[in-house]
Amino acid sequence: MNRYKVAEYEIIPTETYKILRNCSGCGGKTVFCSTDKVRVNSNGKQIDIWLIYQCTKCKHSYNLPIRSRINKKHLSKAEYEALLRNDRKMVFQYGLDRVLFQKNNVEIFEEPAYVLRNTGKDTESDVIRFHNPYHLRIRYDKLIAECFKISRSEAKRVFNRFSVQRKYSDLQGTIIDWRIDCAEK
Ligand SMILES: [Zn+2]
Repeated sequence: MNRYKVAEYEIIPTETYKILRNCSGCGGKTVFCSTDKVRVNSNGKQIDIWLIYQCTKCKHSYNLPIRSRINKKHLSKAEYEALLRNDRKMVFQYGLDRVLFQKNNVEIFEEPAYVLRNTGKDTESDVIRFHNPYHLRIRYDKLIAECFKISRSEAKRVFNRFSVQRKYSDLQGTIIDWRIDCAEK
């Protein structure tokens, strides 16, 4: 029997990215975190959308441009209403979109905290599958330590017996399958 229970897990971030930038209030580089609120400005037919960040030291705010000068017509009523109520799913999607930070030359401070959820779905035998919907950059030996409730050092050792069987990305994020070498059980 394999002592390492194989299963499928989903990596769910519990916060969005914190960013590093110069704060005019503090007079230097500080960490800003998302307020999980958006600002919408409508100017005639055009709309601008920002995600609002706040300096963790002095509360100075910074607006990260999300979409600029888009035509109102290109936004559905549902999307517009979601913006107005700071819909959590939507602000998380924006706040975890690395492309947005790159576009705006914004430096990411660290990877967000997350929880691992066992989806309850079976995988092939000896395969452990991770769904990474937001493409978080996580050390897989750390994940394996968490899944099997073993120490990091044991996980590193076990990890050497895993090999990536399959890795692909789609609209649902990254999926990675690790196969454990059965011969050494
Ligand atoms: Zn500040």
